[in-house]
Amino acid sequence: MADRKQNNKRNNRNNDEDYNPKFRKVRKKVCPLCANKDLILDYKNGEQIKKYINEKGKILPRRATGACAKHQRDITLAIKRARHIAVLPYSQN
Ligand SMILES: [Zn+2]
Repeated sequence: MADRKQNNKRNNRNNDEDYNPKFRKVRKKVCPLCANKDLILDYKNGEQIKKYINEKGKILPRRATGACAKHQRDITLAIKRARHIAVLPYSQN
């Protein structure tokens, strides 16, 4: 038990007294598309859409993009359209 407490202390990077590894405070990301209303996803704009795929060409999950459900659907659709017109790759290696 004492051992575990020590371990918790060691992982406590910001010296927070009531630090609990089970309930780590996570900064909720703000949806990039909600935050910037002027930003409109364009499937013909590869540079813009590229931010939402990983190096393998896979679509990033919401926890990575930080997008809300509505905009994640828009992102997914834009990526799929971009792939179809060969702006983005379906896969890489
Ligand atoms: Zn959004």
